[in-house]
Amino acid sequence: MEYDYLIVGSGLFGSIIAHEMTKKGKKCLVIEKRSHIGGNVYTENTENINVHRYGAHIFHTNSREVWEYINQFADFNRYTNSPVANYKGELYNLPFNMNTFYQMWKVKTPEEARAKIEEQKREFHIENPQNLEEQAISLIGKDIYEKLIKGYTEKQWGRECRDLPAFIIKRLPVRYTFDNNYFNDLYQGIPIGGYTRIIEKMLEGIEVKLDTDFFDDRDRWLNIADKIVFTGMIDQYFDYRYGELEYRGLEFEFETLDMENYQGNAVINYTDAETPFTRIIEHKHFEGADCPKTVITREYPKTWVKGEEAYYPMNDDKNSQLFEKYRELAEKEDNVIFGGRLGMYQYFDMWQVIDEALKLVRDLD
Ligand code: FAD
Ligand code: UDP
Repeated sequence: MEYDYLIVGSGLFGSIIAHEMTKKGKKCLVIEKRSHIGGNVYTENTENINVHRYGAHIFHTNSREVWEYINQFADFNRYTNSPVANYKGELYNLPFNMNTFYQMWKVKTPEEARAKIEEQKREFHIENPQNLEEQAISLIGKDIYEKLIKGYTEKQWGRECRDLPAFIIKRLPVRYTFDNNYFNDLYQGIPIGGYTRIIEKMLEGIEVKLDTDFFDDRDRWLNIADKIVFTGMIDQYFDYRYGELEYRGLEFEFETLDMENYQGNAVINYTDAETPFTRIIEHKHFEGADCPKTVITREYPKTWVKGEEAYYPMNDDKNSQLFEKYRELAEKEDNVIFGGRLGMYQYFDMWQVIDEALKLVRDLD
């Protein structure tokens, strides 16, 4: 074989595998169907601003190992994500905390806030939340659910909240303190200079073929290396033998504006059902870029159709059961390992992708 490892996909997962296996003395080839490296963490510099090409990417983790690992490749700033929600012109702080509760109900103490939430929960008699709607109401009550969650979530996932798994909303903290930090993690920040530079460093000296889709020449790629690490869609790899897994798609609309500061925050969520996008990102605020113009992105969720980028796996029961069947097939493959958000069909944040990649590296020789 010409290579020890073929890595399909140059996202965070594939790039870490390529980097670490090259360090172990293996000859690696990375193929990437897009015309750039980095997958969804890709950033490009426009107007002196590092634009997050596939949606806002804020690095956060509680794992010291992961944090130290990624810090080899970049210095991080001390950015703290504090999105603001815009509901029909009313502004609320996120995640759900004492500022939000004050803005919603004018309650001023944790005790008052708890009492208000308890009163709202009581109406619904939810003992053991079975879906996202029940989970949300039992965490923060009906008003916040209706103004800040229902519209956003139904746009984001294209389904009713009562047909979505509860775990999605548990990603967001609920706090009885005046703290607008979106994450509870110990470490958080944005890599100074953008994410693409991290991936470039990981792939330094490694052969990468862009604009190369594994499925366009499958036989060639299956016979070029001793082992394959595949970070594309696992159901596609197996020719959708058991049926298609569901994903959620996105459309990004970019605009460069001739003004210094458009919205005063990196992330503003539009939580009503009517606004067709979920959020507007103003990229310069991630790194505090000092420049006369600004770049914004509106993020429109959409039905995913075959052939388009699959951004979010839909980790509900039906799809998880289907994935389990593909996972069993994957285990029977001798020399192919599936990794990353699409290969493992998991709603992974970056830190989890790094954690999984480092676990795999420990097992590979
Ligand atoms: P990907 O980045 O998807 O990389 C897979 C690569 O494989 C892609 O480059 C793809 O083109 C390539 N590929 C696929 N199929 C083939 C094929 N057949 N042939 C060749 N190449 C192929 N995480 C956070 O921690 N914080 C955030 O704030 C955050 N925000 C996000 C916002 C959005 C809108 C999205 C979609 C994700 C966000 N994430 C965030 C998650 C983060 O993007 C992922 O955890 C991470 O990028 C996944 O890396 P990956 O390598 O598994 O996948
Ligand atoms: N969410 C919401 N309102 C918001 C922000 C988030 O209801 O203003 C819900 C929504 O269901 C979303 C989930 O919380 O899918 C997780 O949000 P997160 O910001 O983690 O989503 P991501 O950045 O991964 O798209």
